[in-house]
Amino acid sequence: MESLDCNESGKSQVLQAKYILGKKLGIGSFGKVKLAQHILTGKRVAIKILNLQSLNEVEVKRVRCEIEIMGRLSHPNIVRLYEVIETKSKIYLVMEYMSCGELYDYITERGRLTEDEARYIFQQIIAGVEFCHLNKVAHRDLKLENLLVDSECRVKLADFGLSNIMRDGYFLKTCCGSPNYAAPEVISGNLYIGSQVDVWSSGIILYVLLCGRLPFDADNFPNLFKQIKEGLYTIPHHVSPLARDLIIRILVVNPIERITIPQIREHPWFQFNLPQCLTVPAEVMENISKKVDEDVLQGVISHGFDHFHVIQSLKNRIQNEATVTYYLLLDEKIHAFGDYDYYSCQNGYDCNTSRSHQLGGPAKITWNNLHQWQRHLYMWDGAVSQKMQIPVKHKWAAGVQSSADPRGIITEVLRAFQILNVRWENIGDYNMKCRWLHNAGSSPQTKLSLDMNQTPSSSEDALSDVADADLKSGNNLEFEVQLYKAPQKLYLLDLQRVRGPPILFLEFCHSFLCQLHLL
Ligand code: ADP
Ligand code: MG
Repeated sequence: MESLDCNESGKSQVLQAKYILGKKLGIGSFGKVKLAQHILTGKRVAIKILNLQSLNEVEVKRVRCEIEIMGRLSHPNIVRLYEVIETKSKIYLVMEYMSCGELYDYITERGRLTEDEARYIFQQIIAGVEFCHLNKVAHRDLKLENLLVDSECRVKLADFGLSNIMRDGYFLKTCCGSPNYAAPEVISGNLYIGSQVDVWSSGIILYVLLCGRLPFDADNFPNLFKQIKEGLYTIPHHVSPLARDLIIRILVVNPIERITIPQIREHPWFQFNLPQCLTVPAEVMENISKKVDEDVLQGVISHGFDHFHVIQSLKNRIQNEATVTYYLLLDEKIHAFGDYDYYSCQNGYDCNTSRSHQLGGPAKITWNNLHQWQRHLYMWDGAVSQKMQIPVKHKWAAGVQSSADPRGIITEVLRAFQILNVRWENIGDYNMKCRWLHNAGSSPQTKLSLDMNQTPSSSEDALSDVADADLKSGNNLEFEVQLYKAPQKLYLLDLQRVRGPPILFLEFCHSFLCQLHLL
């Protein structure tokens, strides 16, 4: 990562020397994403621009985690991170450009897809997710908005801002992702395994691709969460028995009984028309991505870089102009070749066979010929395209959303805690560990300083003072409260159950929300 200063206009000089910035491609939670051109090679890239000054400590950590994770993943179904440029005030993430944008827009425009089109997209998503899991990365925010598409029908995983490294024997805790795509164990505030949560979200995506609507949807969170936790959804009649079977095996509430990625791969619906190129094992893809491509290397050298310098930089995973050029040229070659065909050939597979894959014909699918093919199928089976019924983007907003200033929100939270007999302790920025002593009597046990300029660090009775007996009785609840910053100057107050009966947690949330009248 390069650390440098900005010019007078606040822009990175290094960025301007290397890239010509173009139109806006999208807006993320923390900043804009813009199209740009890499001056040396003329290749197009997408640059995510993050304003450090508007991020808090937790958000900066998330961004660093996203960089670390994207930097280690090299796969045809994962958006590549070419380089990171950092100034005092901004971080620029230079990424592979996906010219057709979000899968969300594609589906919204077209409605539900045919089974073959949905299958081909789903096969690619699973290949990307499988590769993440092989590298011990859980994406944790898989949804149509975070799947990007290019003109050749390639679908790639993007936005690793909520992803996390999975460690053997460790469960993850943070409640994150989009509520409609969130697994039951996540919304219940239980510890969860990242890979199982990604499988659930992939199932939601599969459902949307096939049905043109979300399986779980409601006007409010309590109803949505109830549906998800009980696994209440229906599958329309037009979905084939095999596709139906796969959805049912994925959307299993108990994560232990949920199908795994290797089992999805073996499922007959997934296996049907599986392009041979998509059968290259994830481990093999991993090894190939570590090899240096001689042709591409020559291309880099022709731009004036020293052979030894390029090899050493690639080997030691150093990010510099030579390696950025290498990966841009490599991606050009891979795309020209047909992504997986490139990997197949590198691994000694028969490229001709792997080219004659999908949909009984075209050597290479593009959106255009895929559409033609789909129209043909519609005529054949008489099905009619339905328009998608999910016009609004569903964003994570667990708990309470407020436009009040953060200190005001916390003051209001503490006021509600006082009324409800909640004991609490600060454990980070706008992050509190709390305990609800249910049935502890109506007189407030916490005496709080509500001085706006001096937020107290804990309620008077420290959490550690609470007797063990209190904890063990089923009447007490431990939870965490975190205030997040959201776009458009909004703040999200998120509550996560740590210990105690889920029903008690719901009861508490209800009482808590009733008290928050000022937000
Ligand atoms: P956030 O983490 O805030 O959701 P994303 O990484 O998802 O940010 O980017 C926000 C939006 O910008 C995306 O949903 C997409 O529309 C656009 N975008 C992001 N990366 C790319 C890319 N590599 N190519 C094209 N568009 C992109
Ligand atoms: Mg996103």
